[in-house]
Amino acid sequence: MTTLWFERALLPEGWADSVRVTLDTGRISAVETGATPRPDDGRHAIALPGLANLHCHGFQRGMAGLSETRGRPDDDFWSWREIMYRFLDRLTPEDIAAINALAFVEMMESGFTRVAEFHYLHNDADGRRYADPAEMAGAVIAAANESGIGLTLLPVFYAHGDFGGAPPASGQRRFLSDVDGFATLVEVSRTKLPADAAFGIAPHSLRAVTAEELAAILPLAEGGPIHIHAAEQMREVEASLAWSGQRPVEWLLNNADIDARWCLVHATHLTDDECDRLAASGAVAGLCPVTEANLGDGIFPADRYLAAGGAIGIGTDSNILIDAAGELRALEYSQRLRDCRRAMLGSETTPSIGERLFREALAGGARATHAGTGIAVGQPADFFTLAADDPIFAGADQRTILDRWIFAARTPVIDGVWRAGREWVAGGRHIARDVVAARYCTVVEALLA
Ligand code: ZN
Repeated sequence: MTTLWFERALLPEGWADSVRVTLDTGRISAVETGATPRPDDGRHAIALPGLANLHCHGFQRGMAGLSETRGRPDDDFWSWREIMYRFLDRLTPEDIAAINALAFVEMMESGFTRVAEFHYLHNDADGRRYADPAEMAGAVIAAANESGIGLTLLPVFYAHGDFGGAPPASGQRRFLSDVDGFATLVEVSRTKLPADAAFGIAPHSLRAVTAEELAAILPLAEGGPIHIHAAEQMREVEASLAWSGQRPVEWLLNNADIDARWCLVHATHLTDDECDRLAASGAVAGLCPVTEANLGDGIFPADRYLAAGGAIGIGTDSNILIDAAGELRALEYSQRLRDCRRAMLGSETTPSIGERLFREALAGGARATHAGTGIAVGQPADFFTLAADDPIFAGADQRTILDRWIFAARTPVIDGVWRAGREWVAGGRHIARDVVAARYCTVVEALLA
């Protein structure tokens, strides 16, 4: 058993002072407030529950910064996707393990204690299944184990190149499955999961799956989460309208029984009606504001959606920059830039933007990744601490701690991260950082040689 004492901690019911937390076999077994520290307590300043990163393609971390050069006057998401397809063409399972491991280490250092890997790179470089159909999933799992991050594995079903069952492009050959092959992949992947992993499925998008295939694969989730990319790009919305007369989110709401099991990733381009219906459905909108800005996707109507009671979570998606606070900051700033206003996403009960967004992302992230959350008895011992001696916290009271961290901290101010009761990040550095970073450098240098 380990005991930790915090000057302040964000508990499910709100901020509390002098909090002692007891950890036992990976979970929180006791929480006392107003406690006097004991000599053998590990002492820290400010404790926050770990966030879930609900949308990630870990391998894309290996190409971060390689597509920020102007290639042609109309560069957009689709030209970025061509670069991404060329990058992934040669990746081996060992490369995937090395790149994901660094991405996961960086996530832990930024305050994420769980990641939902939207895993679509299944086949070898020629587009054939590996002898072990879940070879690539195994590489992702190995990376999660090495980093200590909690894993929600979401094998992706990908069969087509566009709406209506269009044939796939050659750059998509490493993603492809038919329904039977996907069922096998799901079955084998499940056998490899670590003890506290969660598991769901991810039909890639309505571009990659037909209505019949979607209906056929949904039972494979077996009660786990179902994630799908939707309405990230206007070209996608227009193609959906041409195919079905309905927009992607509209089609899903009308045809796919969207409820709290679902996470619609991006959901950027919504009509007011779609926005309100999605908010009422119980599904989580999986927002990736840093990637969405990087790819020029558009702006999610977060003000309207949150006002309607919608659930959100955040994801690092392309991993162009892994930064939990940065995702929350970019979400708020996108609304301000659109409307020329300030302080958009606070609420009457939680006026602090940082605290509101953190709490929403915490709850939505847990729902979308099927994981427990919060510094509370019975929950996984997943939390992180902020270094209160950083000048950014000078004179801080609890009403501004999260705003200071999210909007104003220049240097990383997370000093410790615990996952399943183990301290994986100490003094701001992940305990496996050196080994993982060295291997990553070797792998990426070879890929780019
Ligand atoms: Zn994605």
